[in-house]
Amino acid sequence: MSLSLSASSFRSLLHCPHSLFLDHHGDPTLKTDLGEFEQYLLDEGKRFEHEFIAGKDYVQPDYPEGDLDAGAAATIQLMTEGTPLIYQGVLKAGLFVGVPDLLVKKGGESLLGSWFYEPQEIKISRSVKPFHILQVSFYAMLLDQIQGHRPETATVVLADETEESIDLDAAWPEFERRLAEAIAIVDHRLTTDLAIFSGCGECAWHDVCSKEAKDRNDVTLVADLRRATKPALTELGILTVDDLTTADPERLTEIRGIGSESAKRLVVQAESQATGTVVPVGEARLPESPIELFYDIEGEPNLDMDYLHGLLIVERGKEPRYLAFLADRPEDEGQAFGSFITEVAEILKQHPDAPIYHYHSYERTRVTRLFERYPDQPITRDALMGRFIDLHRVLKDAFVLPVEGYGLKPVSRWLGFKYRNPKSSATQSMLWYRLWLDTGERQYLDDSVLYNEDDCLATKLIKEWIECRPH
Ligand code: SF4
Repeated sequence: MSLSLSASSFRSLLHCPHSLFLDHHGDPTLKTDLGEFEQYLLDEGKRFEHEFIAGKDYVQPDYPEGDLDAGAAATIQLMTEGTPLIYQGVLKAGLFVGVPDLLVKKGGESLLGSWFYEPQEIKISRSVKPFHILQVSFYAMLLDQIQGHRPETATVVLADETEESIDLDAAWPEFERRLAEAIAIVDHRLTTDLAIFSGCGECAWHDVCSKEAKDRNDVTLVADLRRATKPALTELGILTVDDLTTADPERLTEIRGIGSESAKRLVVQAESQATGTVVPVGEARLPESPIELFYDIEGEPNLDMDYLHGLLIVERGKEPRYLAFLADRPEDEGQAFGSFITEVAEILKQHPDAPIYHYHSYERTRVTRLFERYPDQPITRDALMGRFIDLHRVLKDAFVLPVEGYGLKPVSRWLGFKYRNPKSSATQSMLWYRLWLDTGERQYLDDSVLYNEDDCLATKLIKEWIECRPH
């Protein structure tokens, strides 16, 4: 058990307050390791940091590894001497400890003399995130206690090496609110509880919470229940999936963010999960067409790009045909998108009414962005997206399923679909793409393509199930 707070405490707090609690009071032997892709990004971040500081005239405090008290003393020594740039200094005050990437000397009054230090963080990120602002604010608070002067600004260096200045005065009220929340959680004045949501998959406490949620049939296992509603449900005495099956929808509308339609839907969703039955709730109208297209995109948000457009062409009387439009390098994104659009434009010339099925909103969002980036295409954005049919929407408008989530994977798995590579996932595919870029080993790209083809096939299976199922 540890009561000290570090910058990473704010990362946990923003992700899920319960994870901050478990970080301090949970059994560390039950934590799972970082996922492969998270580890890859962490290593990439370190590599970028080393590249950025290489050639800079910095001094790093010298102290025995792990001895943070010695590190803090060595850092104060460097600060007192007026070292212009300190790399990985240790800032310690009471139960708070932080290791900013850089401490940059600035002119101005402080306990040190006619200078003080400002924190600078190096991030392999394309924009400043809320966590970065809390992190530099935390370092500024520690600096205030050490040098008697809170810096007014801090800097975040981004992946393209631009430097973003953070106005710490503006950030302070939110930082103080979050700091108070974090302290209250860690010293038990603020109670947290698990609340299962999509982000649990990337949490080190996933196995712990998942088991506990199943054991107590926690209400947050109900699909589409927003985790922010859990405290209000608890107040109404609704703790389990079964409790929700008997809840009065009218009472649920007292909860902020739940309207009468979604209240009814939540109760039916809980019933469906509790009984394992499919509940028809509406009509599903899908067009008849001699040719149908199934479309799925793979993107890498950390590179701000989409690297693969997968298209499954299903033509009556013919074997389904899968085509992959790949960007071998990030700079080929436009060419891959253009090839995909050209293929679809050819098909639509012959079959102007062909539906293009996709699952959920990602394809629509990304295609909109790609048209903004590469507008010169053989068909317009509206002509293409006018053919889009989101099967996620169609499915949910027609049925309530006994599933804990309506993502492509849980729904298709519930229908019996098996991904050929058991490691398949969106993050795994991103990792494969990054490893392909790093190593040039084609197998990584092939793994991504196989995964994408399976996504298209899973989408097709859902479409066929909707058609065959009586509503
Ligand atoms: S697994 Fe989910 S509920 Fe549990 S701590 Fe992590 S994010 Fe929170």
